[in-house]
Amino acid sequence: MSKIVITGGGLVGSLLALSLKRCGFSVSLFEKRSDPRLASAQEGRSINLIITSRGLNALQKVGLAADALKLAVPVYGRMMHSITGELTYQAYGRPDECNYSISRAELNCFLLDRAQKAGVELHFSKTTESVDFDKRELVFSDGQRLNYDFLFATEGTGSRVREELCRVRPDIKSSIDFLSAGYKELTMPLLSDGSAALQKEALHIWPRGQHMLMALPNRDGSFTMTLYLPHKGGELSFDSIQTANEARDYFTRFYPDALELMPNAIDEYTKNMEGKLGTVRLSQWLAFDSVCLLGDASHGIVPFFGQGMNSGFEDVAAILDRLDQHHTDPTHAKLIAVLAPLVRERKVDTDAIADMAIENFTEMSEKVGDQDFLLRKKVESKLEEHFPHDYRSRYGMITYTLIPYHHAYELGLLQNKLLDELCNSLDSVEKLDLEQAKQAIERWVTPYKTRHQLCFKRFTIS
Ligand SMILES: Cc1cc2nc3c(=O)[nH]c(=O)nc-3n(C[C@H](O)[C@H](O)[C@H](O)COP(=O)(O)OP(=O)(O)OC[C@H]3O[C@@H](n4cnc5c(N)ncnc54)[C@H](O)[C@@H]3O)c2cc1C
Repeated sequence: MSKIVITGGGLVGSLLALSLKRCGFSVSLFEKRSDPRLASAQEGRSINLIITSRGLNALQKVGLAADALKLAVPVYGRMMHSITGELTYQAYGRPDECNYSISRAELNCFLLDRAQKAGVELHFSKTTESVDFDKRELVFSDGQRLNYDFLFATEGTGSRVREELCRVRPDIKSSIDFLSAGYKELTMPLLSDGSAALQKEALHIWPRGQHMLMALPNRDGSFTMTLYLPHKGGELSFDSIQTANEARDYFTRFYPDALELMPNAIDEYTKNMEGKLGTVRLSQWLAFDSVCLLGDASHGIVPFFGQGMNSGFEDVAAILDRLDQHHTDPTHAKLIAVLAPLVRERKVDTDAIADMAIENFTEMSEKVGDQDFLLRKKVESKLEEHFPHDYRSRYGMITYTLIPYHHAYELGLLQNKLLDELCNSLDSVEKLDLEQAKQAIERWVTPYKTRHQLCFKRFTIS
């Protein structure tokens, strides 16, 4: 039996470990941090994540979707907060469709727990320092050396294994393109009477052009807030807003309604770390027939489509699908046979979601408050309602179906042309001519959908 070593016990590493163990491999996982299940809450990252069809599909394959959802809060749409405090609500999809907000730390602990129960060996406070790919030997920062038959690296954006791989194999190219914007986490606690300060079933956005504030609900009704702001340049950047007075002026000017509900905002702003947002590209994910990089380590993306973890989990789902098809013993040869074509296909899809995630930053920070944009969204909702088998927005395809990302990308481009045509001289969604819309769908969408045998059916947990 192949001895699989996984370095990086974050979201993707822990799910991968559990999945490979269930397939019969012997799996050991090595994580840099101490065991997050034992650490105090302050040590973990408090970010909330949106989990959608692709992440849930992977969890379902190992029988964990229903239990994971017990940790989550359903979120049905976006609530936009204008600078003067007006609220505009936009449903994500159909009335029975929602995303789920889940705590990264809780989900990670849940997956580590399940991996351990399934028989994965967990090792914490073990930082991968270097790799001898010829000897198949991993060296940790404490000097320990460890041989592996197969190494999966899921160490996130700053992967050490990726660095080592690109150093010894200059033909393998990697890059990280950082956005000029970064982020800080803040909190919105419960009100003094114990109730939630904002509507709990929505993702809240305060779009302000080059910067924005976002709120995702926690199970207890408090919110985890993320402020996105350029790192440097101009008067609106983390660099130019540093002191408590500067932060107070900034929040009072741009987020007065939120500030009233965030008693610790200024203190948190001055104390909390500024995070970077980058897109990782790696030309080849599998090397030496014994090393494979997955999750953010090979395809980290910016968070504006809420798909980083979802796409990493989809890597794992794809491996499980293919391993299941083989129905033989878990051997090294079988793993390579599965991974070689799989990583090439996945790269096409993850390149597509990387581009869409960058585009979505503009949509969330600038367009969500724009009247033309809102009209297009209403037209899309009406098309989805009237032609459920023939029209699905790009957002809907990515979030609620399992249609490969690259198809959603390409179909989205065609749908943009369709929407240009329909919205050209439209000033209200009530005036949309459904017969004209039907013909436009048949012209722009149906040929692509038929050629690639795509189905707009929503993913559901069974
Ligand atoms: C602000 C923000 C919001 C986001 N929102 C969403 C969202 O709504 N939905 C979504 O799907 N995604 C979201 N993401 C993306 C998501 O967080 C990542 O895609 C996901 O965490 C990737 O999982 P991973 O396991 O590949 O990497 P990570 O979660 O980064 O885990 C990597 C692990 O490897 C460990 N490690 C690192 N180096 C070493 C080493 N040398 N040796 C051993 N261990 C090591 C780390 O300690 C860590 O535990 C968001 C990201 C950010 C920054």
